[in-house]
Amino acid sequence: MKKIALLGASGSIGRQTIDVISQHPDLFELVSFGVGTRVEYARELLRIFEVPLIAVQKEEDALELMKEYPDKTILYGEEGLLAIAKSEYDVLVNALVGFAGFLPTYAAVESGHDVALANKESLVCGGELINRSLALHGKSLIPIDSEHSAIFQCLQGNRMRQVKRLIVTASGGSFRNKTREELSYVTVEEALAHPNWSMGAKITIDSATMMNKGFEVTEAHWLFGVPYEQIDVLMHPESIVHSMVEYIDQSVMAQMGTPDMRLPIQYALSWPDRLELNEPSLDLANIGTLHFSAPDLNRFPLLGLAYEAGKKGGNLGAVMNAANEVANLAFRNHELPFPGIEEIVIGAVQNAPYWELNSVEDLFKANAWGDEYARKQLRKLS
Ligand code: NAD
Ligand code: MG
Repeated sequence: MKKIALLGASGSIGRQTIDVISQHPDLFELVSFGVGTRVEYARELLRIFEVPLIAVQKEEDALELMKEYPDKTILYGEEGLLAIAKSEYDVLVNALVGFAGFLPTYAAVESGHDVALANKESLVCGGELINRSLALHGKSLIPIDSEHSAIFQCLQGNRMRQVKRLIVTASGGSFRNKTREELSYVTVEEALAHPNWSMGAKITIDSATMMNKGFEVTEAHWLFGVPYEQIDVLMHPESIVHSMVEYIDQSVMAQMGTPDMRLPIQYALSWPDRLELNEPSLDLANIGTLHFSAPDLNRFPLLGLAYEAGKKGGNLGAVMNAANEVANLAFRNHELPFPGIEEIVIGAVQNAPYWELNSVEDLFKANAWGDEYARKQLRKLS
C-alpha cells in the first residue's frame, strides 16, 4: 500500500486524484488531505475514506469540523498545509494552485518525502531551492503535468546525457485562432472555455495567455535538468501527443493519449508500474490527422518572456509568477482586459531588480515584489 497525502483535494487535479485512489483501493491509501474552502467536499471525503489528518483554509471551518469529528486532527491555514507536508506518508500529491504550493513542496522534500507535483508554480518560483533540497535529501519529484509526464515516460530506459532536446507540445488555449487585435475584446467566459482540457480557472486563463506554456518550459528545465536552449515548444492543437524527447541519434519518442489527467496522475502514483485505466483506447484512425506548427512569440509574448526570465534565473521566475497571479485573478474578476495580463507580467519582469535565490526569504521577497508591482499597475490601469 502506498500512503498518499493530498493537498488541494477539492480542485480539478485533487478530485481526479481521488478518483484514481478510489479505483485502486488495494494499492493506494489516502492518509491525509487538505481542501481550501469547500468544506462540504471534505465531509464527503471523510464519509468515504478513513483519514485521521486533514487541513482546511479557514479557522472557522476547522472549528466546525472539530466538533463533528472529535477523533480527527483538523488543522487550518498555511500551518495545516505544512503539517500535512511534514507528516508520515509515502508520496505527497501537491495539487494546490499558485505560489501557495511552494512551501508545502519544499517542506515535504526537506522532511524527506517524494512529491508528485501538479503545482508547477513551486518550480517556476523556487525550482533552484527545491532542486538543492532534493539533492540534499535524495528525494524525487514525479511530474503530474501532462507534458512532463509525457517527457518522463519518454525518458524511461534511456540516458539523460543522450537527450538532444525536449519538445513540449501546446494546444494554444482558448484564443489560439484569434489575432492580437481580437484579444482586446475577449470575455472571461470565452477564456474559460478551453478547447481540449477541463481544468481549474487559473490554469485555463494561463493557457489562453500561454503563460502556462512558459511555466511548463521552466518546469521542464528544473524537473529534467535540461538547459532552456534545449527545450522547444511545438503547437499541436489536438492535444494527443503530450510531449516528446529527441535523442542525439535523431530518434524522437512521443507519448500519446486522449486528454485525460487521470493518466498522468495515476502514472505518477504507480511509476515505475503501469495500471489499467478504464477508458476507451486512443482511436487514431478516427482522429485521422494531427497538426504541428512553430509557436509565434509575437502572438504569445509571455512564452518568450518565460524563456528570458528562466535563462536569467534568480528571483525573476517568482516575480513573473506573482505578477501573473495578480493579473490573472484581476482578469477573472473583470477588473482588467485580457491584454492587460501581458502588460503587467512583462512590466514586472522588465522592471524588477535582480537578485539571487539563496534562501526561502529571497524567494518570498521576490514574490512580494512581483505582487506589489502588479497591484500598483492594476490601480493605474483600472
Ligand atoms: P483548482 O483551482 O481546481 O484547485 C486548486 C486547489 O487548491 C483548490 O482545491 C483550492 O481550494 C486549493 N488551494 C489553493 N490555495 C490554497 C490555500 N492557500 N490553502 C488551501 N488550499 C488551497 O486548480 P487545478 O486546476 O486543480 O490546478 C492545480 C495545480 O495543478 C496548478 O498548479 C495547475 O497549474 C496544475 N495543473 C493542473 C492541471 C489540470 O488539468 N487542472 C493540469 C496540469 C497542471
Ligand atoms: Mg500541462
